[in-house]
Amino acid sequence: FTSRPENGRHFLQIPGPTNVPDRVLRALDNPTMDHRGPDFGVLGKRVLDKIKPVFGTTGPVVIYPASGTGAWEAALVNTLSPGDTVLMCETGWFAHLWREMAERLALKPRLLETDWRRAADVPAIEAALRADKGHEIKAVCVVHNETSTGCTSRIDEVRRAMDAAGHPALLLVDTISSLGSIEYRHDEWRVDVTVSGSQKGLMLPPGLSFNAVSEKALKASETAKLPRAFWDWKPMLAANATGYFPYTPATNMLYALDTALDMLAEEGLPNVFARHDRHAEATRRAVRAWGLEVQCAEPRHYSSALTAVRLPEGHSANALRAAILERFDMSLGNGLGRLNDRVFRIGHLGAFNDLSLLGTLGGVEMGLRVAGVPHQPGGVGAAMDYLSGNA
Ligand code: PLP
Repeated sequence: FTSRPENGRHFLQIPGPTNVPDRVLRALDNPTMDHRGPDFGVLGKRVLDKIKPVFGTTGPVVIYPASGTGAWEAALVNTLSPGDTVLMCETGWFAHLWREMAERLALKPRLLETDWRRAADVPAIEAALRADKGHEIKAVCVVHNETSTGCTSRIDEVRRAMDAAGHPALLLVDTISSLGSIEYRHDEWRVDVTVSGSQKGLMLPPGLSFNAVSEKALKASETAKLPRAFWDWKPMLAANATGYFPYTPATNMLYALDTALDMLAEEGLPNVFARHDRHAEATRRAVRAWGLEVQCAEPRHYSSALTAVRLPEGHSANALRAAILERFDMSLGNGLGRLNDRVFRIGHLGAFNDLSLLGTLGGVEMGLRVAGVPHQPGGVGAAMDYLSGNA
């Protein structure tokens, strides 16, 4: 694609892949190195150490040259055996896909459904675990930030519910669209496997994915019987001890990861999370000022990474997105699964600031007008009032 001067910069406001900062792009175009040479071990060790605080862990983080889907599979095949029951919270499209994968891997998902307008139902998790007297459930799987709906599950509460039920199941959490954007504490919440990906809060291109692994998960991997080869933690962790990988790692992506981790550390994770909270609140104020509805119906579950916006009955979210792309060169997220054409999604995660948000909201507000979607003007103004401290 050639960028055209009349376009300025494309607005990539889908909830990931996100805009990659220039500093990260510069790191990516360093010369490719020998992944068995001495320099690589230094880089490998550095990124494997530096990534831990982002997960809130002091334990190992496995890095795969794969998309997030691969890390989902890795979490399941390393810890579980064929026929194992897994409790899965169907919070939206991504939770649905993870459940389908579990079925294909010969696991037995037990489903806790939601209306896709709120996050994981913690009392339902506790009730299901209390009812499981024989401890058939081997793992509880939760998507921390459901990217299809903009609902964020309370992993701290899920952990408390599991403790209250006195149930020994593993806790597997997908943070693909929350890591580096929304507060997350792998160790403190005693998560057993945290799954993540490079292309969202970490401000990298797609291509890397992660498993942060607890002691309990490592122990489970010793007896887990699902077949695994490429995803096997064991050779990975053995090679990682000296900073290397059992197969060719995505060397240039690791340069980029090194730089992105520096950027997050320089800003400070609490500031990164506060920045995302603030942009999310400004976005919701804009949506309300337009007279539209946020897909997430439970304020305690509002996502700080993205906002899914419902269209009035009889209006097409896909037509709106097409008009915005055509007229203003901005990409917004589409509605997924049952939300196809019903919602559009505004990504406000990763490398992002006040003016990026105002440009984004300006494109949406003009798009609503162009596409003939009934709304009130003033969303951008409401966001400006909030961002400038005058709300
Ligand atoms: N889980 C969540 C929450 C996601 O947002 C995504 C992708 O957007 C995935 C899983 C799948 O990841 P990938 O597309 O990188 O395989």
